[in-house]
Amino acid sequence: MAHPNEMHALTLTELAQCLTAGDFSARELTESMLERIANLDGELNAMLTVTSDDALAAADRADRHRAEGKAGSLTGLPIVHKDIFCTRGVRTSCGSRMLENFVSPYDATVVERLANAGVVMLGKSNMDEFAMGSSNETSYFGPVNNPWDHTLSPGGSSGGSAAAVAARMAPAATGTDTGGSIRQPAALTGTVGLKPTYGRVSRYGMIAFASSLDQAGVITRSAADAALLLQAMAGFDERDSTSVDQPVPDYVAAIDKPLKGLRVGVVRQHFDAGLDEKTGARVKDAIAALEAQGAVTREVDLPNLELSVPTYYVVAPAECSSNLSRFDGVRFGHRVNDAKDLFDLYCRSRGEGFGAEVKRRIMTGTYVLSAGYYDAYYLKAQKVRQLIADDFRKAFADVDLIAGPTTPTPAFKLGDKTDDPITMYLNDIYTIGANLAGLPGISVPCGLVDGLPVGLHLVGPHFGEGQLLNCAHRYQAETDWHTLCPEAYR
Ligand code: GLN
Repeated sequence: MAHPNEMHALTLTELAQCLTAGDFSARELTESMLERIANLDGELNAMLTVTSDDALAAADRADRHRAEGKAGSLTGLPIVHKDIFCTRGVRTSCGSRMLENFVSPYDATVVERLANAGVVMLGKSNMDEFAMGSSNETSYFGPVNNPWDHTLSPGGSSGGSAAAVAARMAPAATGTDTGGSIRQPAALTGTVGLKPTYGRVSRYGMIAFASSLDQAGVITRSAADAALLLQAMAGFDERDSTSVDQPVPDYVAAIDKPLKGLRVGVVRQHFDAGLDEKTGARVKDAIAALEAQGAVTREVDLPNLELSVPTYYVVAPAECSSNLSRFDGVRFGHRVNDAKDLFDLYCRSRGEGFGAEVKRRIMTGTYVLSAGYYDAYYLKAQKVRQLIADDFRKAFADVDLIAGPTTPTPAFKLGDKTDDPITMYLNDIYTIGANLAGLPGISVPCGLVDGLPVGLHLVGPHFGEGQLLNCAHRYQAETDWHTLCPEAYR
């Protein structure tokens, strides 16, 4: 039986077993997590809203369901939602002043499905404004500190979710990934980050950044935990026209297949200059560990990889400029109350409501979509995007999945890259390709570099998340990098 003081040390899968065994109640578990948040979040700033009363009520409901024999695999498990998911009656700020006081009248599908499965929401996590960033420093509510070292960034944009899980304030959290925002913060905080195939999980009620790239996923402590949550989140939703009507396999049951014969592609361009040497060494060790389990590696080529960041920074801003036009001071969010006329209302509400990075993206996006430049930028970027997707398609003719680094370096200092957007953007060089091609990806802790975690990145073909989870789980069965916890949070 787990001691109440140790609940935070358990994974979601372990907590589920304890709840089933009656070692403790969902209320006791929720109380213990809320207490940790109250004690620890002051130094991390991972949480934007803590919903203590709702959480305790949901935990009591979960306990009642269990007593009535109606518990499912997620009943009573506490998690945190990134503040980009709409939650009925609870503020959804998206990390922006624009939505500082926005309360959604409905739940996002992800929130609804998890709640229906009995999950207890502890609160909403900090994030880069409108998910635009790689360091959580664009949040209107201030940066998040990395639990491994408070002077470092936890990555972004799901930095609050990643820090909350790394600091054991929640066993799991949701996130969104447009160019790497689940996998990059997972790598920099020593957690697991899964971005499913585009269309696998509904985007309904997830505030849009770049609609052809955005995808919801999870940050957890193990691949098994990610499988558990994905099981409940995935599946067709008629309210999202890009959600794919394809059966959801049993991810949890298929997670422990031996890796013998698994064909793993190692991308030549991943180990070029730009990758920190020690990070590369840890990733190579991890690939060797897969080989030791019988996986067969071969080199693959993604010749257009270096075009992925520039392509993304045309496509994503274009879509964001269109999506964010709805924030006009009339329908949603921040509104100046002394506007001279309609034009003044638009200009000043948006001028005050949005931060610098969001404005930079809107201006870039408007420019690349404008009549005179559309062909030269937006159309060209769409063509290059196709080339990148083709590169992956060719690679997957020969391999089952691709393995490489998630990020070029371990966590960097807060403030280090804020004046240099290009350097900041390059953080996503290994992750953005999967978004452009709509592929699933997972980051798994694979070692420490100077005491800081780094991630192994696995990318699979469309709807290959089962395979990714299987490979990650088998890797975790033989290694213990995912069990490491920053000392202050043990
Ligand atoms: N870092 C990338 C950006 O700033 C990706 C963000 C994301 O995945 N939401 O746009």
